[in-house]
Amino acid sequence: MQTNIPQSILDTPEGKEANDILRSCVHCGFCTATCPTYQELGDELDGPRGRIYLIKDMLEGGEVTTTTQQHLDRCLTCRACESTCPSGVEYAHLAEIGKAMVEEKVGRPLGQRLLRKALVKVLPNRALFSALMTVGRVFRPVLPQVLKAKIPKGKKVAAYPNKEHLRKVLLIEGCVQPSMSPEIDVAAAHVLDKLGIQTLRTGQAQCCGAVENHLHAKEAGLQRVRANIDAWLPFVELGVEAILSSASACALEIKEYAHLLKNDPEYAEKAKIISEKAKDLVEVLAVEDLSALKLDATKRIAFHAPCTLQHGQKLSGSVEALLQQVGYDLSPVMDAHLCCGSSGTYSILQPKLSETLRDNKVQHLTARQPDIIATANIGCLHHIQAGTDKPVQHWINLLED
Ligand code: SF4
Ligand code: SF4
Repeated sequence: MQTNIPQSILDTPEGKEANDILRSCVHCGFCTATCPTYQELGDELDGPRGRIYLIKDMLEGGEVTTTTQQHLDRCLTCRACESTCPSGVEYAHLAEIGKAMVEEKVGRPLGQRLLRKALVKVLPNRALFSALMTVGRVFRPVLPQVLKAKIPKGKKVAAYPNKEHLRKVLLIEGCVQPSMSPEIDVAAAHVLDKLGIQTLRTGQAQCCGAVENHLHAKEAGLQRVRANIDAWLPFVELGVEAILSSASACALEIKEYAHLLKNDPEYAEKAKIISEKAKDLVEVLAVEDLSALKLDATKRIAFHAPCTLQHGQKLSGSVEALLQQVGYDLSPVMDAHLCCGSSGTYSILQPKLSETLRDNKVQHLTARQPDIIATANIGCLHHIQAGTDKPVQHWINLLED
């Protein structure tokens, strides 16, 4: 694609990166067919190619309006377009630059601004989110269904294992998962313990930074990323094999640290070290001998692969293979490449579209009457659970004996 971006923008790191990405696009439109928002809305500007043109136009000095903002807001950043693109266009990085530019140029109504501010304040703050979840659980019985669905019931959870092993990993617990579904990381630690791997934790609340970065609170997000790097590097020096997350969105975000800080002279090299150590839980377990796990794998499972697992981390089919390896019966799922509509804060900011995508996803996941729906990300888990009576679990809970 030819571009005509002013030199003043090309001289900035973002302008140069955007220009390089735009030039790699041959505007073939293959990506459009696999874009969930294009499939729902049928508007070229709600598909990747249309959004790429909008961003190009904006960078070249074209008019930026609330319509531009709306089409970019509707993008889930699911990266299905990246999986389809034959030219390797890094759409997500381009969208990040485009969305941040629109944010600077087009205002938002007061209500939207306040909501976004509240999300940036509450979600990454584990103590505050946990306190709100506790209050929510008290009032859960009298809450309207739409709110009730966002507040899972509290569960009794086993303690973390305390055996020491030579092999060690650092587990990043994240911000909302410990209060919404603490059983996931505890299960991960027990499975790893059985395989002779000790799980270390930092003991501090540590959001990966995804919430701020997705809501364009860029500086706050980068500050959090730098603080995480400082907190996690000593564990790398201690010899941990991996920096691990059981939430595929967080694993992807940590893998992005090197990209986020590539222009930071103090942190670029450190960020690279952390990103190289980052692994999704499935990457660690996929290479282990799982015969030590005594499983009763008799249930029929439908697996929802989060976009952050299949498109972001390119780990398509990895969890399904692992579940089949231990004996589970996996149901095929139609349109498995499409997003469930959760996508970070998307379900709050774009509720209608998000619900439509979820209902489609639930229909496909339940078509063959599975006993359990499994997934790999906390956001997808609770979003899908709000649309079905079938139990939805993290796949690691299916490896507990
Ligand atoms: S498939 Fe790739 S090259 Fe083709 S229009 Fe989409 S982003 Fe551009
Ligand atoms: S990231 Fe997802 S929603 Fe956004 S343009 Fe690409 S396929 Fe469409």
